[in-house]
Amino acid sequence: MIEFELKRTGMLIVVSAPSGGGKSTIIRALLDADSSLDYSISATTRPRRGEEEDGREYRFLSLDQFKQLVQEDAFYEYAEVHGNYYGTLREEVDAKLEEGKDVILDLDVQGSMRLRKSVRDCTTIFILPPSMATLEKRLRGRGEDSEEAIQRRLENARNEVRMAAQYDYILVNRDLTDTIENMKTIIEAQRFRASRVMVRDGFGTVLASQS
Ligand code: ADP
Ligand code: 5GP
Repeated sequence: MIEFELKRTGMLIVVSAPSGGGKSTIIRALLDADSSLDYSISATTRPRRGEEEDGREYRFLSLDQFKQLVQEDAFYEYAEVHGNYYGTLREEVDAKLEEGKDVILDLDVQGSMRLRKSVRDCTTIFILPPSMATLEKRLRGRGEDSEEAIQRRLENARNEVRMAAQYDYILVNRDLTDTIENMKTIIEAQRFRASRVMVRDGFGTVLASQS
């Protein structure tokens, strides 16, 4: 009797939302709930905020260090966001994929579109706040940004929202628990796409594969 088994390679899940839209909160919950998921820690020139630690939320770099990495082609993509640079380190993502993890990336709209061009297989999800008024309330509630930063983030949000249609999936983050459940559903479905799995027999022989 031949037992069929599915063998899968790791995938990239890109999450974007206007700042304050709830990305970090949602991503943290997904990582806590699913040990097959890992997070791509970006490099940034932004100063550290609140309780952030180097190597946990971001790799915090000077502008010179960041430029050096750009020269070395160390990034899958990078972008200037709210006056600072942010970039996805190739090494970071590749190491996690090699471990067999599905990797979540928190990227701005420009970065998501660039990444989609440079890597073949990624799923993009855009998270909308229920309204601009709620976004402002959540940004203020977080209590981490200056008034100037809040105004800049709200201004950017108006432009970012228009880009939502470029993504594979769009969610509105009203109730946090519902949003997290919807994210889990999307990720789970993506794991079974025929383009991502190989059918093998119990001896490891590939019986069906799109690649
Ligand atoms: P981002 O990472 O997108 O900038 P955060 O995850 O920091 O956003 O969320 C901004 C604030 O909004 C946080 O204080 C968070 O607790 C809160 N928040 C996120 N999602 C919801 C939600 N569905 N309902 C109420 N508050 C939320
Ligand atoms: P924050 O400063 O609030 O942590 O993030 C600001 C913005 O930068 C967010 O929209 C976030 O998605 C984006 N961002 C974080 N890391 C990267 C990255 O590596 N590349 C790009 N393009 N954007 C990023």
